This record gives sequence, structure tokens and C-alpha cells, in this order.
Amino acid sequence: MVNFPGYIANPVKELMQGIKEISNKNYNKRLVFPAKDEFGDLADAFNQMAAKLDEYEHSNLASILFEKRRIETIINSMTDGIIGIDDKQFIIFANKVACTLIGMPEEKLTGQYAPNIALENDLLRNMLFVEQSRMKIFADGRESYFTKDVLEVTNDYKVIGKVIILKNITDLQQLNDAKTTFIATISHELKTPLSSIRMSLKLLEDERVGGVNNEQKQLLQNIDADTHRLLQITAELLDTAQVETGKINLNFGNTHPKNIVNYAVKAIRSLADQKEITIAVDCPDSLPHVMADLDKTTWVLINLLSNAVKYSPEKATVNLNVKKQGNAIEFSVKDTGQGIDEKYVARIFERYFRIPGADADKTGTGLGLAIAKDFIEAQGGHIGVESGAGEGSRFYFTLDINNTQ
Ligand code: ADP
Repeated sequence: MVNFPGYIANPVKELMQGIKEISNKNYNKRLVFPAKDEFGDLADAFNQMAAKLDEYEHSNLASILFEKRRIETIINSMTDGIIGIDDKQFIIFANKVACTLIGMPEEKLTGQYAPNIALENDLLRNMLFVEQSRMKIFADGRESYFTKDVLEVTNDYKVIGKVIILKNITDLQQLNDAKTTFIATISHELKTPLSSIRMSLKLLEDERVGGVNNEQKQLLQNIDADTHRLLQITAELLDTAQVETGKINLNFGNTHPKNIVNYAVKAIRSLADQKEITIAVDCPDSLPHVMADLDKTTWVLINLLSNAVKYSPEKATVNLNVKKQGNAIEFSVKDTGQGIDEKYVARIFERYFRIPGADADKTGTGLGLAIAKDFIEAQGGHIGVESGAGEGSRFYFTLDINNTQ
């Protein structure tokens, strides 16, 4: 009678202890009741359950670990940067690419409060707080372009974190920039010769130049229609091309300023004649030679002259002066046209900039001066304008004198 409670109570106490251990996930717990009675059976059943739970836990953990490693391998072998952040903004993981871009090792990122790191890190700040999906960031030692995708991680419709995927599109962006510059330059360069072909065709059709038979007239009309189409296509190309960057290849040579002037004046002659505009040239033979890319500089001068003609009244005079200035030669084109309002002077060399409200018949794209600036600055020169509304304009550019002469 005295021992009875202990006989019952001790195994029950031990069983209670065992259940507690199991609920704490200590599946190693076993019960040992030496008596071959109901308690012994109970202990066997308990031990069997613990063994099964132990087995389940281990196989589950192993497969979870395997799955984790598999996902880590996939994430790390991806060429995009990937970062995982929990709902409290703590970084859970960052793959190798993301670490390189952010410029921090994984161990300094994982477990950290992301907004803290973002304070001093441009890329992370943009990833977390900037809405735009396209970003330009200085990372990995250079200006880079990225697109960002944010995927929300949900559990039972509750957001428990997010995964941010960064795609580096710098190379694509650079290719795209180069392509658009190329398209814009080529189309712009085609504009002048195509226009002069059209003008010559018009002259051929004029009876005063000499008669053509009907068949020849038809041929001339066909050429004119095709040239018109080509001009339209080049204009459209210019409109669609978003010119931003691109490398300009220069072909430097030693040349006398007169060569540049003569080429340009010849090219612009028929346009000027149409409006009976005189091009007064002052380019002394005594000037020293310059180091220049002949084609590109001529292109710039033709553009300045064609603008001067375009914005001058009929029968006006456009002055083309070339003079020595310090260690450079300055080419200047002065017209007596409408001039440029002071507030627009600073913007005149921007791409696609055209003075608002300017004459509708003066068709153009606003790219000529921007490309001219690229061409002159690529040669180490300087381009500028002096003008005011109603005062006419003086556009000028400089080129270095060739001192090795
Ligand atoms: P486009 O002539 O094809 O429009 P440009 O880059 O050559 O492009 O010129 C940009 C703008 O600058 C022109 O649209 C015009 O408004 C203004 N501009 C250029 N040259 C002159 C000039 N000589 N006189 C007055 N305005 C000019």
C-alpha cells in the first residue's frame, strides 16, 4: 500500500517528462521501464513513436537542406543579381552577382537591416526605394544600367518578403546608344546630298536649262519621286533615333582651312542661289594649316551655312570668315536673319531642340547643331553662337592649328 503510489506515479512522471521532451523536438528521448507490464508496453509504444518521429525529422531536414542547396546553386549560377528580403526589411540572402554589384561580401549583407545599408549604397537604395524599373547606377567601377523586377513572396495571402532581381543591361544600352547615334548621323548626312539631288532635278526640269524629251522628263520625275521618298525615310529615321551616346571615329589630317571652306561653299551653292543669297567668304591664304577630320568639319560648316541660308531673308548676305585666334583657327558663319532669342541660346546645341514657334516651313529635326557639337568637340575644338532676337546670328567653331607644320 505504501509502495503503490510510487509504482504508478514514477512511470507516469517519467512518461510526462518524455512527452515534454518530444514536444520540444528532442526525438532521442527513450523510456526504460524494466517491468514487463502495461507500463513496459507503454514504454515500447512511446519509444517506437519517438524513433519514427526522429526518422521523419531527419529525412525531412535532409531533403529541406538538399532543396536549399539546390536553390542556392541555381541562384548563384544566375547572371542576374538576386536579393531576398523579409517582411521586416532584413536581407535573407544575396547571390554572388548581387554582392559584386552592391560591392559588399555576402556575410556583410545577410541578416542586415537593408535600409541601413541603403543609406550608404546607391544600388541598394535604388533597389528598395525607387519605383522605376530602369536604373542608371555607378556600380562595379563604371556607369551601369539595370532593370529591376520585384517579386513578392506570399504565404497564405500574407506578404512575408520579397525577391529583387536585377538585370544588368549596360552592354545592351551601349549597343543601343551606338546604334541610334549611327542611325541619326547617317540619316543626317544623307539629308544634304539628297536635297541637292532634288534641287538639281528641279533645275533639269526647268525649260531654261535646256529641253528634255517626254521620256527623259518621265525618268526625271521618277528619280524625283524616289529622292523624295528617301528624304522622308531619312527624316523618319532621325525622328525615331534617340541619339544619346556613341563613339565618333575621327580621321585626322593636315589641311588648309580653305579646303574645308571651298568644299562647304560648293555644297551649299544651289541652296543659296534659290534664295539669291550671297555667301561672302573671307579666308586668307596666309592662314596656317589645321589638324582636322576633313569630312566631319566640312559637314559641320555645311550645316551652319545651310541654317544661315534657311533663316536669312531672300537676297541677304551670309558672311563666312576664317581667322587665326591664338593657337586655333576660328571659322564663323554670320547671317542677318531672325536671330535667336537669348533664352534659347544656351539650348541651341541640345539634341532635338528647335526654337518653339519657329516658322513651320523651316523643316528640320534639331539634330544638326547637336551633331556638329559632337564632331567639333571630338576634335578638341569649341563651338558656339552669338545671337539675339532680330540681330542675326554668328555661329563659330575652332580647330587647333597644326604646329608640326
Ligand atoms: P534643324 O535646323 O534641323 O532644326 P539645328 O540643330 O541645325 O536643327 O538647329 C536647331 C534650331 O536652332 C533650329 O530649329 C532653329 O530654330 C535654330 N537655328 C539654327 N541656326 C539658326 C540661325 N542661323 N538663325 C536662327 N535660328 C537658328
